[in-house]
Amino acid sequence: MSDTVVKIIPTDPYRRIDGQEIQRVMAYLQSKIKADKLEVVSNETPLFIDCGDSLETIQCPYCGETLDFDWWHGRMDAAYGTAFRDLSVKLPCCGRESSLNDLAYDFPCGFSCDAFHILNPWAELREEDLKQLQELLGISVRAVYAHI
Ligand SMILES: [Zn+2]
Repeated sequence: MSDTVVKIIPTDPYRRIDGQEIQRVMAYLQSKIKADKLEVVSNETPLFIDCGDSLETIQCPYCGETLDFDWWHGRMDAAYGTAFRDLSVKLPCCGRESSLNDLAYDFPCGFSCDAFHILNPWAELREEDLKQLQELLGISVRAVYAHI
């Protein structure tokens, strides 16, 4: 049987979540979300928070062009060389500057140092929960769904 992990991450890949914020968010999740497990995963530098096997397409956030996976892998390798501190890319379609974090991943992916992992939530996460988390943290967050 496969597992689902919902990862809640700051939209800004460099925004760290401090101890107090972690406590606030964990208290909220523990009171509202039924799941097999709740945990925080932290790293000094941003990590690629992927959706597992569900990544089907990546598109340019400006012109909507579908981006080639070979191009993307090359850009990921280059960014990995900076420990994902530099995520900037020049898009091959329209030539605009963007970030690997801002490409239109389907299903959604992102980059972050800190992530809240919700393992096998018993019910789907509601918009309202995401809004509450954004308010608790005072930042915008993104939910990444991964099947593992
Ligand atoms: Zn483009």
